[in-house]
Amino acid sequence: MTRQYELVERVKSYEPDADEALLNRAYVYAMKAHGNQKRASGAPFFSHPLEVAAILAEMRLDDATIATALLHDTIEDTGATRSEIDALFGPEIGSLVEGLTKIKKLDLVTKKAEQAENFRKLLLAISSDIRVLLVKLADRLHNMRTLEHVKPAKRKAIAEETMDIYAPLAGRMGMQWLREELEEHAFRWLNPEAYAAVVDRLKMLRERNQGLIDEIETALTTKLEEAKVTAIVAGREKKPYAIWSKMERKQISLEQLSDIYAFRIVVAEVADCYRAVAVVHTTWHAVPGRFKDYISNPKQNDYQSIHTTIVGPRHQRAELQIRTETMHSVAEYGVAAHALYKDAANGSGPPKGVVPSQDSNAYRWLRHLVGMLLDGDNPEEFLEHTKLELFQDQVFCFTPKGRLIALPRGANPIDFAYAVHTDIGNTCVGAKINGRPMPLVTELRNGDEVEIVCSDAQLPPSAWQSLAVTGKARSAIRRATRDAVRAQYGKLGREILKRAFARRGKAFSEEGIVQSLGRLSQKTTEDVAAAVGRGELASVDVVRAVFPDEVPGETPKLRRKVKRNDEGWFGLGKVMGLKFRWPGSSGRVRQEDQSSIPIRGLRGDLPVSFAEGGAVPGDRIVGILSPGQGITIYPIHAEALKDFDEEPERWIDVTWDIDEDNPQRFPAAIAVTALNEPGSLAQVATVIGEADGNIDNIKMTNRVPDYTEMRIDLEVWDLKHLNDILAGLKAKEVVSSASRVI
Ligand code: MN
Repeated sequence: MTRQYELVERVKSYEPDADEALLNRAYVYAMKAHGNQKRASGAPFFSHPLEVAAILAEMRLDDATIATALLHDTIEDTGATRSEIDALFGPEIGSLVEGLTKIKKLDLVTKKAEQAENFRKLLLAISSDIRVLLVKLADRLHNMRTLEHVKPAKRKAIAEETMDIYAPLAGRMGMQWLREELEEHAFRWLNPEAYAAVVDRLKMLRERNQGLIDEIETALTTKLEEAKVTAIVAGREKKPYAIWSKMERKQISLEQLSDIYAFRIVVAEVADCYRAVAVVHTTWHAVPGRFKDYISNPKQNDYQSIHTTIVGPRHQRAELQIRTETMHSVAEYGVAAHALYKDAANGSGPPKGVVPSQDSNAYRWLRHLVGMLLDGDNPEEFLEHTKLELFQDQVFCFTPKGRLIALPRGANPIDFAYAVHTDIGNTCVGAKINGRPMPLVTELRNGDEVEIVCSDAQLPPSAWQSLAVTGKARSAIRRATRDAVRAQYGKLGREILKRAFARRGKAFSEEGIVQSLGRLSQKTTEDVAAAVGRGELASVDVVRAVFPDEVPGETPKLRRKVKRNDEGWFGLGKVMGLKFRWPGSSGRVRQEDQSSIPIRGLRGDLPVSFAEGGAVPGDRIVGILSPGQGITIYPIHAEALKDFDEEPERWIDVTWDIDEDNPQRFPAAIAVTALNEPGSLAQVATVIGEADGNIDNIKMTNRVPDYTEMRIDLEVWDLKHLNDILAGLKAKEVVSSASRVI
């Protein structure tokens, strides 16, 4: 625990004029006021305001802020009153402490209407003086650091509120370290499984990459020295939540997780930043698409830096942030850094304690929000506005009962359903957004109320895996479909076995199979059924194992394993250069000793056709099952797919499976607008012919005096071929436009 004199010394070290007596008075007053109160950990309660004050002293805040920190819980938790605080410490500190008292009563994770109202109060309380927010954030940080002592139910609510409200607020105020630490603590309690998995994986990578951080640091330092750029290079391993949220954003799995190292290059001048970039990019490969210049385009919270990712020594990816010292302070301390650097720039003597600047961007933003708040009279509308601004990378939606569900931007009702509960996701068949039935692929917007329509008999179609945005939804879909595959093979196998036993005049019984498990080298009857269903075990072998004396033949053995890909799917059919992947129960199953057994839900023998407009290799595709007709293949971006959103059971995962030695042509349709000139149609046909495209049909769709619009049905090898043809057409003078029809 920080001691009284240590705290005072620390404040005096950066603010020599600090009011020592004020700090001492606040210390003694708070200690007495909290008396014998204890924290959940059993520690004296006073240790809490003291640690909060210490956190703020680290941020070099002024004496009034430190005193406020010491006093922040006195009005709420002890007999202290506003007037007493005013009398002893002055009205400035009195109003700061009162602001904190107001916030303390707010429960931000609650029903929509109340939440809006509470959020409004929070903003009003913190906007009168930004120091209220800084003390609140430090208060929350200390509570998060000691959250393990709090009861689990309450713990979760606090972590949720931290993740949803306080961490984004810290980020919005430009205090990156604070945002990160709040998120890391909250993540650990909100998603313990994910946290443990990431920590495990990090540990493994750390063992594998021993000494790598030092090695990259040294390499960077040496290269920069050679180029005469003076820089401080510091490397670190990224934190679990930072890694996790990136995995969710970039849709990568834990196994693919490799770039976990981040390096900071801090230089003196802006020009040095760009020289450093040049050195780094000429020494190592830059990862495309990862270069961002926030120096010429600062973020809204005043953040400036250059970001890039390189493939560094030992072929490890490393993220770099390149910035000046001033930018570094702004990045770490945000609103609190401004005044400090303004003073330093004016050369006005030794640095003083920081009274946060009232004209930083972040502060202006807060003011703007409050302005809106005072003007408007609809708190819910206000909430939508505020949250939109505050959480730029998130959308906030609500269940019909008013529960808040925070999702990454771009999320759809599938993600929402899984965020509510895995069972809701697994049985989801449709969604109503703000009362209206909408497709499951609709991108959710802030404030949407989402009602998920469930059906018990439903299983998530595997195609959802590529539609879902959140990692939680995707992994749950994968799990559910994998379980479904297993169950369906089991069902199929049981059906086959019943028939196999019946053919030999024997009764099929679970007990009989249980007796023969050893002979069949299987663990459970379910395993036996599944092995038969997958074709790994012949049904006749099972009959023999159960009636060894009556059915002659050799001892049962496992037949070839059906090859599975890593997602647990089974490649079951190859038609027209397409590979189908669907959960079990498929096709006619041929057994050596019996003719094919038709099983309901046949898919393997179904005819396959392309939707109007076709699909060509290179397109992402999906199959739609039409009972009695077969499977129709659509490109994933086809408008027509919307019609099937309500019937997810008809979606089938398909991928291209092109045989390089036997290339095939695929149908596609294009729309061409050409000048009405003699020979223009011939020119169009020639371009297509010369590019090796087959024309199936040409239809004039519209004819105006000068132009003809036509639709051409083609056969092409693949997407590149189609694009080449379109490019060739556009190059012709008679063609005014050429595009694909989907
Ligand atoms: Mn507190």
